[in-house]
This record gives sequence, structure tokens and C-alpha cells, in this order.
Amino acid sequence: MESKDVFIDVFAGDLAIELKERLATSVRVVLTGHRSPDGDAVGSCLALWNHLKEHGVNATVVLPDEFPGFISWMSGKDDIVLHSATPDKAEALLGEADVIFVLDYNDSSRVGAMQNALENSDAFKVMIDHHQQPSDFVDMMFSDEKSCSTAEMVYRLIERWGEEEELSSASAACLYCGIMTDSGSFRFPSVTPRTHRIAAALCETGIDHADIHSRVYDNNREGQLKLVGYALTEKLEVFPEHHAAIISLSLKELARFGYEKGDTEGLVNRALSVEGVNFAVFVKESEERVKMSFRSVGEFSAREFSSDHFAGGGHYNAAGGASKESLLEVVSKIKGLLPEYSSKLNY
Ligand code: 5GP
Ligand code: MN
Repeated sequence: MESKDVFIDVFAGDLAIELKERLATSVRVVLTGHRSPDGDAVGSCLALWNHLKEHGVNATVVLPDEFPGFISWMSGKDDIVLHSATPDKAEALLGEADVIFVLDYNDSSRVGAMQNALENSDAFKVMIDHHQQPSDFVDMMFSDEKSCSTAEMVYRLIERWGEEEELSSASAACLYCGIMTDSGSFRFPSVTPRTHRIAAALCETGIDHADIHSRVYDNNREGQLKLVGYALTEKLEVFPEHHAAIISLSLKELARFGYEKGDTEGLVNRALSVEGVNFAVFVKESEERVKMSFRSVGEFSAREFSSDHFAGGGHYNAAGGASKESLLEVVSKIKGLLPEYSSKLNY
């Protein structure tokens, strides 16, 4: 049987070693993740931040905006600079950096209001990412769409540096969280024997995997659970003839349950779990824009749907996009498109 473990190793060449040499002489290193950072983005940034610090390289994590509360236990989170809170400080750090890491995103537009400062910085930019179709705005690129998470790639980089035995449990916990959240707790097809081997190596450092799981997943506020209950009871629309389902939530509905960032994480997967549904969409209104989450199972590409109709992107089966149109317009546009895709979703 062909092993799922046969890969092109993006870290195999000299680049990873060149990077290590460059870091040894770099004074100002900045680690960045995407807007609305998730467990993988923050986990990758803080894992590398802890690891570099322990190896004499001082770095700063700069994120476009607030991270979800469920990762507030990570070592180093109090030192994160948020562009949304202190834009001048964040932009100065980006402008003065020698090296900028681009972690868990592959297009400069994914950092929102931080985009200009990132693009205009003369720093040497290094991308480590697992999304499809990277934009070439960096000086060194490690892009592996086969990897289940950026955190898995950060581990492989540390391994390439020969430093995996020195990995601290602080770093390992951040990496474990990144892998766990991006792999749907080790259930997505992107999970390979290698993912489990890396998870095992992380556990060997002494992390408490059950504690990490419970901090991330058993940390719901009452309002959040009720919001999910409301979304599933009142707002889930299933289109069996199109093998699709949609959930949408307006600002008013979100406010009713005291919405906080991260509250609707994973909601789209509930829609996807409906029997016979192969494509699920979650549409959420915010002050500035309408955000979409697309998920598919099997051969239908959520990424293609997102990029064809909403200039979005992501992975084959998990993608996202945004629109300046109203919530109602976006929802009716998606519903209008479904008949066109029914036959492709019929499997
Ligand atoms: P989520 O639905 O969890 O927000 O995002 C699913 C995937 O799509 C993630 O890997 C994320 O990076 C990507 N993604 C989400 N929103 C956007 C977007 O607006 N543009 C692009 N290019 N990718 C997105
Ligand atoms: Mn990721």
C-alpha cells in the first residue's frame, strides 16, 4: 500500500539552514500571523517565539488583532503586540525588523490593516504556511499544502535545525494546540502518520495534552453555547437537493447572545455534519464586512468556490472569504449558486 507519509520535504534543502544562520545574526525578529488569528496561527507564532528566545534570539509576535480567549494559557501571550490596539508600535516593529516570519497565511492581504506596513518593510521575509496558492511576497518560502497545520511545519523546521531534542514543553504545548485545532483534533484527511509522530514527540516533552484539549474545547461561555443552539435551531438551512447547508448570523443576532470573537468557531462543521451534506457555509455579519466560512467533504473544492465567487482562499476542503455586500445579499448569492453545483456535490 502506498504510504500517506511520502512527501516532498520543503525543509530538506539548504534554505532552512541558511535561515538559521541568518537568525543568529538578526537583532530584530518579528513573527506574524493572520487576521482573526486561530489556534494554529497563535500556536505557531508563540512556539517559535519561545523556541527562539530559548536559543538566544529575541523576537516579538505581532498580530493584526485579538486572539480567541481559549488560547490565553500560552506562554508568551502577554508579550504579543496587537496592531488593532497599538498600530504605531506594531508598524514600528515591522518597519525596523531584520526578519519577519509570515506564519499560517500566504497572502499579505490576510493581515488586514497591517498589510502596508508588512509589504513596505525591508525585512527579510520568511513564509511558513500550509494554504494553497501562495503569493510570492516573501524572500524565503516554505509552503506545504499537504501539511495539516503550520504548527506541524514549525516542528519540522526545528527538527531540520537539529533542535527537536531541546524543544521546551512551553513551545511544544503551543505546537500541539496548533496541530490539534487545525486538524479537527486529529480527524481531517490532512492528518498523516507523521502528524501523530510529531504529536508523540510533543507529548514526550511533558505537555498535558488532555489539559490543552479541555482548555481549548471545554471553555464555552453560556452565551456562546446558547448562540450555537440558536444557530442550529433557528438558522440552519439544509438544501438536501443540493447537498448543501447554510447558517447565517446577523450582528443583531450575535449581539443578543453577547458574541465574542471565536464563539462561532466550528459552527460550520456542524452544518457539514448533516447527513447527505457535502458543502456547508457559515455567513457572519460584522461591522466592516460579511465573512464566510466554506467547508466541503470529498472532491468538491471549497477553496475554488470561495475564490471564484468571493475572491477568497484557503484549503481544498476548508476555505474562507469576505464581502462588502450585505448579509442578505451574500446569503442569497450563495443560495442562487447552489443549483449550479448540485450535480458536482452529489456523491
Ligand atoms: P475559516 O473558515 O476557519 O475562517 O477559514 C478557513 C480557511 O480559509 C483558513 O485556512 C483560512 O486561512 C482561509 N481563509 C479564511 N478567510 C479567508 C479569506 O478571506 N481569504 C483567504 N484567502 N483565505 C481565507
Ligand atoms: Mn493553519
